[in-house]
Amino acid sequence: MKYAYSAAQLAFKQEVEAFLSEHLPADLAHSVRCGAGISKDQLAAWTRVLNAKGWAAPHWPVAHGGTGWNLVHRHIFDVACREYHAPQLSAFGFSMVGPAIAKYGTVEQQAKYLPQILNADLWFCQGYSEPQAGSDLASLRTKAERLGDQYIVNGQKIWTSAAEDADWIFCLVRTDMQVQQQKGISFLLIDMSSPGVTVKPLYAFNGKRLWNQVFFEDVHVPVSQRLGEENFGWTVAKSLLGDERLLVSRVAENKRILSILIDTIEHEYGVGENVPASLAAEMTELEIRLQALEVSSLRMLSKADAGAQFGAEPSMLKLKGSQLVQDLDELLFRAVGHLVLARDRAPYASHTLGAESFSEPFVGSELTEFVASGRYHHRGYTIAGGSSEVQYNIMAKQVLGL
Ligand SMILES: Cc1cc2nc3c(=O)[nH]c(=O)nc-3n(C[C@H](O)[C@H](O)[C@H](O)COP(=O)(O)OP(=O)(O)OC[C@H]3O[C@@H](n4cnc5c(N)ncnc54)[C@H](O)[C@@H]3O)c2cc1C
Repeated sequence: MKYAYSAAQLAFKQEVEAFLSEHLPADLAHSVRCGAGISKDQLAAWTRVLNAKGWAAPHWPVAHGGTGWNLVHRHIFDVACREYHAPQLSAFGFSMVGPAIAKYGTVEQQAKYLPQILNADLWFCQGYSEPQAGSDLASLRTKAERLGDQYIVNGQKIWTSAAEDADWIFCLVRTDMQVQQQKGISFLLIDMSSPGVTVKPLYAFNGKRLWNQVFFEDVHVPVSQRLGEENFGWTVAKSLLGDERLLVSRVAENKRILSILIDTIEHEYGVGENVPASLAAEMTELEIRLQALEVSSLRMLSKADAGAQFGAEPSMLKLKGSQLVQDLDELLFRAVGHLVLARDRAPYASHTLGAESFSEPFVGSELTEFVASGRYHHRGYTIAGGSSEVQYNIMAKQVLGL
């Protein structure tokens, strides 16, 4: 099992790393590395640095500001960005709705939205899931009734990440109740400041606002904000995944977490014989799993670059990648031991008691914030984007023929 980069790929990797060394602000990388969270303004500033270089939207067609990189180059770029602790750009704008607008949008829609997304002037969130429609997304019930050149939208979305920072939401809505579920869905772009849109926060166990509920009450949406034909939304939604489907292995993120695990263990125990043998053995096993995942992923990406089509195989990468993140988290948590508890309480306390009541200095390594918070946040990786059970079902049916 071996995968070696070509000379051209290695040169590209060096070019990306040189750019990150020169342009990624050290304080920003430090905050990302420690899991401290960064502001929308900081993320906007970094987005603009990448946009000025022409590297903000590797997923878009070149005509709309894309890079023209193949999948292996995109993998190399992702890994370098993660290893340098660059913040991730908004996936909703760059990986999801941007490519969909490029593919299905009218010329007017493309001219209106794409440049604003590229320059971080317009932020989207994703309104797919509903209280009764998650894995079974096609059963969604938020409805949009046509009234002249407007839709009147009523319903509710849930688990909407980053809705609190979003200017617009891309939404799946039901426009025909009479036909088969998938055939009665349309794809709307909705301004979050429209009258009748309400956002309510949902907090994770670590006290962080990871999601929201978004309510629509008689929200008027111009028909010109529909992407694709009426009742064609399911096709648009599926295409949103596009090539992204092959980049689901979380190799880049796993590498970043592994580097933090290694730093943490060195900080807590030093190196060599001081590291407990069981810890060293578990770390080595996780490292081997990560290497196997990266080689499998690169093999698939390079075949796809050569024109191969894939069916259910990416489900395997999604499954293994999300499980590995959680296993790395678990080992990190144990490596830091009791020190994580001090950090663990901090964000929770700031919501329940007020930030000022938790002013004692932190103990332990500066990385314990990342450990505590990541452990909760990454639990969602086996659910988001299609739960593990759903991935098993897909592989059972399409790969094993069961
Ligand atoms: C971190 C995170 C961020 C998210 N961000 C967004 C967002 O921005 N926008 C958005 O729209 N949604 C978002 N979601 C929601 C996500 O898409 C849904 O949680 C997901 O689709 C699962 O739906 P559900 O929560 O309703 O669970 P359900 O579909 O009700 O599943 C519950 C359990 O049943 C299992 N299950 C379901 N169907 C089957 C089956 N056929 N066979 C076997 N087991 C099954 C599932 O695996 C799961 O364990 C986010 C979720 C997470 C965790």
